Amino acid sequence: MPQIKCNVTECHYNQDVMCHASMIQVDRNGVSKASMSPQTKCETFKPKG
Ligand code: SF4
Repeated sequence: MPQIKCNVTECHYNQDVMCHASMIQVDRNGVSKASMSPQTKCETFKPKG
C-alpha cells in the first residue's frame, strides 16, 4: 500500500493526517465521468468512534 496523505482527520482510519486502512475504495462522486478531483470521493471513509 503506498502512503496516502489524507486531511480527513475525523475518519476512523486517519492517524496523523495519514490513511492507515489496508486498502481504500475511491469512486466517482455522482458523475458518469470525473474531470476534476471534487468529482471523486473515498468510499472507505468511516466516522471515528
Ligand atoms: S479511508 Fe479515506 S477518508 Fe479515511 S483516512 Fe483513508 S483516505 Fe482518508
